[in-house]
Amino acid sequence: MTKPQSHSKSQPQSTSDFSGTSPRLTVDLGAVVSNFKTLRDTVGQSGSSCAGVLKANSYGMGAERVAEALWAEGCKTFFAALVGEGVKLRALFPEATIYVLSPYLSLDAALLREHHLIPCLYDLEGIDLWIAANNTAAPAALHFETGINRLGLSTQDLEQLLGNRSRLNRLDLKLVMSHLSSADEQQSEHNQQQLEAFKRIRAEFPNAPASLANTAGIFLGPDYHFDLVRPGIGLYGHDPHYYENRGSRLKPVATFAAPLAQVKNLKAGEAVGYGATELDRDSTIGVILCGYADGVMRALFKPDSKEGHQVSINGHKAPILGRVSMDMITIDLTAVPKEAREIGSMVEIFGNHSPVENAAAMAGTSAYELFTRVSGRAVRKYV
Ligand SMILES: *Cc1c(COP(=O)(O)O)cnc(C)c1O
Repeated sequence: MTKPQSHSKSQPQSTSDFSGTSPRLTVDLGAVVSNFKTLRDTVGQSGSSCAGVLKANSYGMGAERVAEALWAEGCKTFFAALVGEGVKLRALFPEATIYVLSPYLSLDAALLREHHLIPCLYDLEGIDLWIAANNTAAPAALHFETGINRLGLSTQDLEQLLGNRSRLNRLDLKLVMSHLSSADEQQSEHNQQQLEAFKRIRAEFPNAPASLANTAGIFLGPDYHFDLVRPGIGLYGHDPHYYENRGSRLKPVATFAAPLAQVKNLKAGEAVGYGATELDRDSTIGVILCGYADGVMRALFKPDSKEGHQVSINGHKAPILGRVSMDMITIDLTAVPKEAREIGSMVEIFGNHSPVENAAAMAGTSAYELFTRVSGRAVRKYV
């Protein structure tokens, strides 16, 4: 084994900024806005308007900054999952229409009211609690079940609501909605089935705006647009039909990268990482300062086949080689020219050069999970 390269003369680091060696999630707000426009234009011909889904800290991107960028572009309707997320958004956007997708009315009613958040109600008990918490007609969305069988009012609930209209008379119905289970599979028969079920439901509420589509639903075509669409993942740069269409209609938003800390030349038969993955050939190995604690999934390296996700360094591809540790990963730099692998170079785990879709495929997961797993330790930078 040759001596590892020492640290190159590094930039002086500000004493007030400890983020120097932290993994970095760079969020391209211009790309968020561009994706919003693409989605808005796609539904514009149907006369539908476009909201923004900002749950889970905007899929890990940072809800405040994303919301500011969308608001400036004219997006006035936001969806949060939890009431706490809605409260934070309300503090920043007094004028926004903010829906809460997963309200828990027995605990959340007071906060919903205080912060003028609109709950997406999914059972009769919740409807009754929300009516009781309001003196005047209670602003609400009704979330109906059409086949995903998560949160949603059932067919029996619908019959009860229509059979005795006392509940409906006390609601200020802002939205009738449902959610698609399989919109990312364009040919799935569930899409058409849910669409037909939703049409029957919304026909009972001719005066209320209707909403069915998430990002993937938008791309299923005008039949799915109704009055309001609710894209999340598309804003953050993942096209849900990426695999089926072999490409994206949206711009990548997130680049997740961390610095190269050490480079070493090893001989065939030497090993790297936990479980001692043996090298099949003489190799140049790089150590990068991020790991599963930052959201780099262990599944991005397969010890049995020694197959690893291709990260990129200065435009050159390099596969992960060796098990992903908590704070470190090792990559194979053998094919990367020396000048492209200097200590301190940022190595892209996913982003423009290393599509998140490739990482998701290798880890057997989705772009959604990879985005939302990027930990709080990673510094968010905005461009
Ligand atoms: C998360 C979510 C969305 C956004 O879905 P994407 O696939 O990210 O576009 C829309 N509606 C509901 C009910 C959701 O839970």
